[in-house]
Amino acid sequence: MRFTELVEVYGKLEATTKRLEMRALLVGLIERLSIDELPEVLYLSQGLLRPEYEGIELGMADSLAAKSVALATGLPDPEVLAEARSSGDLGTTVERLLENRSSAGAGLTVAGVYQVLTKIARASGEGSQETKVQVLAELLHRCSPTEAKYAVRFVLGKLRLGVREMTILDALAVAFGGGTKEARAQIEAAFNVSSDLGLVAQALARSALEGLGEIHLTVGRPVRPMLAERSPDLADVLKRMEGRAALEYKYDGLRVQAHVPQDGPVKLFSRRLEDISAQFPELLVDLPKAIARRPAIVEGECVSIDPETDEIRPFQEISRRRGRKYDLERMQQEIPVCLFLFDLLLEGDRSQIDEPLPERRAHLAKLVRPTDRIRLAVQKVVENVDDAQAFFDQSIADGCEGVMAKSLDPGGTYHPGGRGFWWIKYKREYTQGLADSVDGVVVGAFHGKGRRGGKYGALLMAVYNPDQDRYESFCKVGSGFDDAALDALPKRLKPFEVDDRPEGVLTELTPDRWITPTLVLEVRGAELSLSPIHRAAVDLIRPGAGLALRFPRFTGRYREDKGPTDATTSQELVALYRSQVRQSSATTSAPE
Ligand code: ATP
Repeated sequence: MRFTELVEVYGKLEATTKRLEMRALLVGLIERLSIDELPEVLYLSQGLLRPEYEGIELGMADSLAAKSVALATGLPDPEVLAEARSSGDLGTTVERLLENRSSAGAGLTVAGVYQVLTKIARASGEGSQETKVQVLAELLHRCSPTEAKYAVRFVLGKLRLGVREMTILDALAVAFGGGTKEARAQIEAAFNVSSDLGLVAQALARSALEGLGEIHLTVGRPVRPMLAERSPDLADVLKRMEGRAALEYKYDGLRVQAHVPQDGPVKLFSRRLEDISAQFPELLVDLPKAIARRPAIVEGECVSIDPETDEIRPFQEISRRRGRKYDLERMQQEIPVCLFLFDLLLEGDRSQIDEPLPERRAHLAKLVRPTDRIRLAVQKVVENVDDAQAFFDQSIADGCEGVMAKSLDPGGTYHPGGRGFWWIKYKREYTQGLADSVDGVVVGAFHGKGRRGGKYGALLMAVYNPDQDRYESFCKVGSGFDDAALDALPKRLKPFEVDDRPEGVLTELTPDRWITPTLVLEVRGAELSLSPIHRAAVDLIRPGAGLALRFPRFTGRYREDKGPTDATTSQELVALYRSQVRQSSATTSAPE
C-alpha cells in the first residue's frame, strides 16, 4: 500500500469520534492490505512499531524532530521551533511548511516508511541522535505535506488517532468473521493469550477464524492477566462460590508474570505487560533455580521482605524498585524482594490455562522448589465464614491487604484478560466501611487558587468504559496531594496536555487543560452518587444520570502498572454503587 493511501485514512479517522465510523474505516483499510502489511499497519495505527509489550520507543524529542524538519524544509531551527510553538503541533507545522514548498511526495510505500521508522527507533549509542535527525529528514524530504504531518507525529509519539485495541478487535471481527459475537470473542481470546494484534490479524488473514488455532501460549509473549471481582463481605464470597473456596493471601505488591524458558534469559512482565525484567535481576537468577521443569510461565505478586524477620514490608517499599535502572545492586540490598507465586499458565509444552484451579495449583506446588525469593502464595480451602474470617485475619497480621478467594469449580480455569467471579478480592479497607479505591484516568486539570496559584489544584478523573471504548468522568479530585505531589504535577502532565477535549472523553465539565488519557491514579471517596455532570456509567442506573465519587482524595498512589484502559471500568463502578446501596439498606434494616 502507498503511504499516501494510509494517511488519507488517518485523516478520516482523526476527523471522527464515532466508534462505528472508526470501525468501518479500519475494516476498509484492513481489506486493502496484504498479509505482510497488516501487522505493520495495525501497530502503526496505534502509534507503535511492534506489540506494546516489546517496549520499542521511537524516542525523538520535539527539539530533535524540529531539526529534521529544518533540514527537510531548509529553514533555520529556531524558525521551525517558533512555528511549532505557535501551532502547538510540529506535525501541522511541517505540513504547512512543506505546502509552501509544494513538495508532492515521492510514492512512498507503507513498508518503506515502516522500515525507516524502525531504523530511527533502533538507532542507539554514540551518534544516534544525529542519525535519527538525518534519517527523519531524508524521509520528510520524500513526503507529501500530509504524509510528513503523520510521520512527524509518529516519531514524537503523538499520533493519537484514538484507535485502540478494542476498536481494532471489532474491525478484525467484521473483516474476517462476519462481525458476529462469536467471531469477536474468538479473536479477543487469541489476543488475550498473545498480546499481539499483528500476529492475530495475520493468522486471520491466512485462514480466517481457523487460523486462530495456530496462536498458542508462548514463552516470551505475555498473557493478559486474569482479574478479580470484588465482594463486600466473606459470607457473600462463600455464597458466590457455593460454600467452598480456595482463599489466598492477597499480597500488596507488584503483579509479575514470569516467563522462564528452557535455556536463556527469563522475562518478567508487569500487570500492564511491560517488560520489567531488568528491574529484578535477583528474580532472573532465582526463577530457573526454583522451577524444575521448563519452559514455564508462572504468575505471582512481588513484595518486599524484611530479611531479618521475614516480614512483608508495605507496598511503598517495593514501589521504590519500580522503573529503577540504576543502582540495582544497592536496591537489591536495601529492598529485598520475594515473589509469591499463585498461578501456573504453562508447564513444559503444556498450556495449563484450561485446567481448573486445583489442578493448576497442584502442578505449581510440584514444579516449584521454593527459595528465599521464590515461594508459593499461602492458600487454604475453606468451607465456612468463621474459617474464612480467621484466614483473613491471619493474612492481615502477616502484612497482606486481604484475601483473594478463588473458585474450585471446573469452570475456574485461567481466563486471560477476564474479570469475573472466579476470583473475588476482599480487602481490609472494605471492612472499614469505605468503598474500594478507584483507579481513575486523568483527563483534565484545573488551575489552583490561593496557595495553589500557578500550579494545578485539581484533576478531572475518568473511568474506562470498554463497551464504548471511552473515558467517562467521575470526579474532580483536589485533596490528598501533598506539596511535593502538587509541584510535580505540571511536569508529569505536560507531555499529555492538549487544547481540545481528547477523542473518547465524556464529561460535562470543562477543565482548564485537557489531558490525553494516559496517567492512572488511585482515588478514594466517601460514596458514589448519581450525577448530572459526571458521565461515568451514564444511563446504566438511571437515564441521563452518571456516577460521581463524593469527597474524592488521591491516595498518593500512581498506578504506573496500569495503562488507561486498565483503569477501573464504568461497569465496576456500577457494581460498587450497587454493593454500597445493598450495604446501606442492610445496615438500615438490621435490628439494633
Ligand atoms: P485489578 O488488578 O483487579 O484491576 P488492582 O490492580 O487495583 O485491580 P487489586 O484490586 O488490589 O488490584 O487486586 C488485584 C491484584 O491483587 C492482582 O492483579 C494481583 O496483582 C494482586 N494479588 C495479590 N495476591 C494475589 C493472589 N494470591 N492471587 C491473585 N492476585 C493477587
